[in-house]
Amino acid sequence: MTTHTDELRRRYRAFLAPQDEPDQVPAGAEAATLAVPAESPPSRTGLLAELIDLFRQRPGLRSVVLTVGGDTIGVAHRSTLELFDPDALRGDCLSGPMPGPPVRFTALYFRCPHPPCPNQKILLFVDGAPPECDRHGPMIQEA
Ligand SMILES: [Zn+2]
Repeated sequence: MTTHTDELRRRYRAFLAPQDEPDQVPAGAEAATLAVPAESPPSRTGLLAELIDLFRQRPGLRSVVLTVGGDTIGVAHRSTLELFDPDALRGDCLSGPMPGPPVRFTALYFRCPHPPCPNQKILLFVDGAPPECDRHGPMIQEA
């Protein structure tokens, strides 16, 4: 799994915060965890489009921790994502070396049902049980 995590770190490094900045992982309601499916991780442009959508849909969200199989890949911050122009991104998809429709993922939101616990997770896919809060157990899915 470590090799896979390293590979994904390289794949997504353009929009991840540097690994050696632990303070960059904020606590509280403005951060979320996004679990990348290990079997079929999205392309760089696919994940970037998904992150831009997430930040657009959730104005209070500041940072997203990307994980795969329980390992942390890295942290994507709103301030970094704002540097990417979604329109330019779309053009890149159309004219890139791998033609075809961009892969899109449906994000599912989960939160801990024990307020004021701020833990929340965003999953691109759900296979079976819902994600768990580190402290309180199973999370519930938001509408
Ligand atoms: Zn909790």
